[in-house]
Amino acid sequence: MSLSWSAQLSEFLRFLQDAGITHLPVTEKDPVEGLFQEVQACRACRLHKTVTNKVFGQGPVPCPVMLVGEGPGADEDRTGIPFVGRSGQLLDKILAAVNLSRKDVYIGNVIKCRPPNNRTPLPDEVDRCMPFLWQQIDMVNPVFVIAMGAVAARALLGMEGALGRMRGRFYRVKGRYYMVTYHPAALLRYERYKRAAWQDWKQFRAAFTAYKEKGELPEAFDTNVLR
Ligand code: SF4
Repeated sequence: MSLSWSAQLSEFLRFLQDAGITHLPVTEKDPVEGLFQEVQACRACRLHKTVTNKVFGQGPVPCPVMLVGEGPGADEDRTGIPFVGRSGQLLDKILAAVNLSRKDVYIGNVIKCRPPNNRTPLPDEVDRCMPFLWQQIDMVNPVFVIAMGAVAARALLGMEGALGRMRGRFYRVKGRYYMVTYHPAALLRYERYKRAAWQDWKQFRAAFTAYKEKGELPEAFDTNVLR
């Protein structure tokens, strides 16, 4: 006659006790995986109704460099991976130009669900999704956060106005250095932004190198302390 489930468990526990094992290790929930699951379950804004795949983010944790874009487009919605398609290919080239690759950076977005027809996310959608990004930033713990595009710059730094006036310097916020530059999609659309974007990335490359040598950003880098 086969033993009941509880009888089998009692027998197994007795066996462990006899073998001198009195404690079993408990695996703690991976916080990144926990947040990933929260995002998958989220219905906090209307965008969950039209999404195919939510795009959580990608990269090592922790990571000294975090890139933040606006939100998923059609390719990202299809694959669940950030920055695939033409914008992603351009981003890969930009990273290579500053001696980095995807495995060296964490890539996330302000919102995790694609807005219909790639429209700009509405303010209430950004407000509802940002708590996820703040938690991601805490987990990734980057030294440098690069806001790509005006939506990311406004959401991360609370700044209004044209992106052209936000870029060109670093913002020190709670011990991290934030930088604003153009979104790769904007560079694909508007040739005229490319020169300024390259200046931004060169500035980042110099700052990252200096930081690695000195453990802080030297005064030569224009830095605004925000909070
Ligand atoms: S965009 Fe963000 S807040 Fe809205 S449903 Fe998706 S995960 Fe939730």
